[in-house]
Amino acid sequence: MTRRHDRSLNAVVIVGASLAGYRTAQALREFGFRGSLHLVGEEPHLPYNRPPLSKHYLARTSDESSIWLATLLELDALDLALALGRTAVNVDLCARYVELDDGERLAYDALVIATGARPRLIAGLTETSRPPSVHTLRTIEDGRRLSDVLLPRPDGRPTDVTVVGSGFIGSEVASTSLGLGAHVTLIDSGEAPMSAVLHSEMGHVLACRHRQAGINLRSNATVREIMVDSAADGGISTEVRLANGESLAADAVVVGVGVTPTTGWLQASGLQLDDGLVCDETLQAHEGVFAAGDVTRWGPPGERGRRLEHWTNAVAQAEHVAHNIMAGPDATPFDNIPYYWSDQFGFRLEVVGEPPAGCDLDFVWGTPQAASLVALYRKGNDVLGVVAIDARHQMVAVRRAVRGASSWASALDAIAW
Ligand SMILES: Cc1cc2nc3c(=O)[nH]c(=O)nc-3n(C[C@H](O)[C@H](O)[C@H](O)COP(=O)(O)OP(=O)(O)OC[C@H]3O[C@@H](n4cnc5c(N)ncnc54)[C@H](O)[C@@H]3O)c2cc1C
Repeated sequence: MTRRHDRSLNAVVIVGASLAGYRTAQALREFGFRGSLHLVGEEPHLPYNRPPLSKHYLARTSDESSIWLATLLELDALDLALALGRTAVNVDLCARYVELDDGERLAYDALVIATGARPRLIAGLTETSRPPSVHTLRTIEDGRRLSDVLLPRPDGRPTDVTVVGSGFIGSEVASTSLGLGAHVTLIDSGEAPMSAVLHSEMGHVLACRHRQAGINLRSNATVREIMVDSAADGGISTEVRLANGESLAADAVVVGVGVTPTTGWLQASGLQLDDGLVCDETLQAHEGVFAAGDVTRWGPPGERGRRLEHWTNAVAQAEHVAHNIMAGPDATPFDNIPYYWSDQFGFRLEVVGEPPAGCDLDFVWGTPQAASLVALYRKGNDVLGVVAIDARHQMVAVRRAVRGASSWASALDAIAW
């Protein structure tokens, strides 16, 4: 691909050396960019995959090498200036440079912001005031720490784990903890896990599966506070206090109540921030400044746009940003039907599309009680998404059809259930 632009493109700086940042670098080289390429990452590690952190990495059924996105050799082949363990602290949009924590300035012709998101905590706790028995899960270090406490205790007693938040990560942590022999309580502020995102009927399907697996699922429960004290045996006792006055004792508490996009370092930059970095449809936040992955809020000018926190979205946006950097004035809108998955309690949940609130759910293959099922999200006659449990062949067909079709309706016509 040859770059078409009136401004020369010699230097690209990418901030965030994880999935979206690494994939952007890789795609830029694939598309023929031969200039200087900086990849700056706050974490000291080579780029790695986060999904295993709540699955086989947490369960210790695979070793650390399985989570790297690239080997050193593969990174070398990209001819990157790799700055790991370094934090970007500001951007000067006029002079076009990124400033790092040690004062170094990296000049750019194009800048890609791929700084992802960080876990939220519950009210009253901050990253610095968080007691050691209260966990979040985003990094390798979080995964290691949590994995250590999930194993049965030296006296053989199972670990009591309370997971706050029954979204994708909370449910996966609950599932993996159970697999490691822990007693697991899952606190869900809604009527059923993931019902706000996947529809209440799907939420109830999942609630049944959680309970059948052995999770103590507490629906419509809100955490008031988490109290930590010294225990009689010299250890730490942790109590999760619910709004209804109940107290739950735990050896470990995992907070999985969502994430906040990492945009604090951009506060003084003049870029527009609104629960993410605001970009137009081409994923551009400002002339020469692009965003990819969990940090990105994109949409047409004047609209609030949307932000997604899924692996495939980060990859697709990274590739699109690389394409648009090379395309210059011929940049195209990012238009991708979302797909994501979650592995929990021995089954795979897959979703294609973005089901809006208030849509109907129509089971077209299997039933809510069946081991495998496929259901469509509909509003009137329009199909807006597909959700499936353990229906990999059907979902491969759905994704293939969606990629090749002009509309949902024609995509679904191509599939025989
Ligand atoms: C435990 C877990 C399980 C998941 N499972 C699934 C799944 O099953 N399916 C699915 O679709 N998705 C899953 N996801 C979501 C998926 O991993 C994310 O969507 C993806 O990691 C987003 O990639 P990203 O590069 O945008 O952001 P991130 O992965 O968050 O990376 C951002 C990087 O930028 C760095 N950074 C931040 N600020 C700065 C700065 N100022 N300077 C330099 N570097 C900075 C951060 O340290 C980080 O390394 C999971 C996520 C987690 C945490």
